[in-house]
Order: sequence, then C-alpha cells, then structure tokens
Amino acid sequence: MAGEPQADCLFCKIVEGNIPATIVRETETTLAFRDINPQAPSHVLVIPKAHHADAASLAAAAPELAADVLREAGHVAADEEIVEHGYRVVFNTGAGAGQTVFHAHAHVLGGRGLQWPPG
Ligand code: 5GP
Ligand code: ZN
Repeated sequence: MAGEPQADCLFCKIVEGNIPATIVRETETTLAFRDINPQAPSHVLVIPKAHHADAASLAAAAPELAADVLREAGHVAADEEIVEHGYRVVFNTGAGAGQTVFHAHAHVLGGRGLQWPPG
C-alpha cells in the first residue's frame, strides 16, 4: 500500500537503517544521502521516508510530502554549494528512463557542466 514500508525496497531499508548510507540531511519526512555511484561531483538522492513508487504517484498520493522532497533538494544544493553554477533535479520515471529503484527519489546533480538535453 502507498506510504507503507516495502520489505523488498532498497530505499525503505536505508530509511530503516538496515542498509548504510552517507546521509547528508534528514527531516521528519525525508532523507538525503549520497548516491553510491555518483554521476557528478555532487550527486545526492532525496527521498520521502514513506514508500511511493515514483514522483508522480508521490505527488498524487501525498502532495505535501512531494513538496518536502523538492524543498529538501534545494537545501541539499545550497549545502553542496552548487546553486551558483546551476544544478539539476531529476526524477527518472519508469525503467525505460533509467529508474532502477521504485521508491521515489530526486537526484540532485551538480559541480560540473551539465549538458542539455540529457541523454
Ligand atoms: P534510478 O536509477 O532509480 O533513477 O536511481 C537509483 C540510484 O540509486 C542510482 O543512481 C544508484 O547509483 C543509486 N543506488 C543504488 N543502490 C544504492 C545503495 O545501496 N546506496 C546508495 N546510496 N545509492 C544506491
Ligand atoms: Zn521504499
């Protein structure tokens, strides 16, 4: 069920502390931690602690929580000092777009030049 922890979900396990992660920010509703396979000098994932499969279903089921994730993405960018040069917030949605973990997460990427359009 939306919002409930999923036994087979990697990011639910990180929220529960069962898999270690390098946490950079935490709120009552969100967690931000470094991507294990960074694609830029700064690459942080921001997730809702509650399980939702992707950004669209998160926004539909829990719009305030979706806003929490976006607000935290901005705080991460400020903490990482990547605001001035520009950064990207990405929600890969669906396997065809590269989503591999089906627990909604914002990628916050910066610290290098970012091409547009992305591949
Ligand atoms: P997606 O491909 O679903 O958009 O993003 C999933 C991200 O999670 C990938 O960038 C991947 O490197 C990252 N990731 C996968 N497993 C782990 C893990 O165990 N710990 C951390 N910190 N990141 C992970
Ligand atoms: Zn989950």
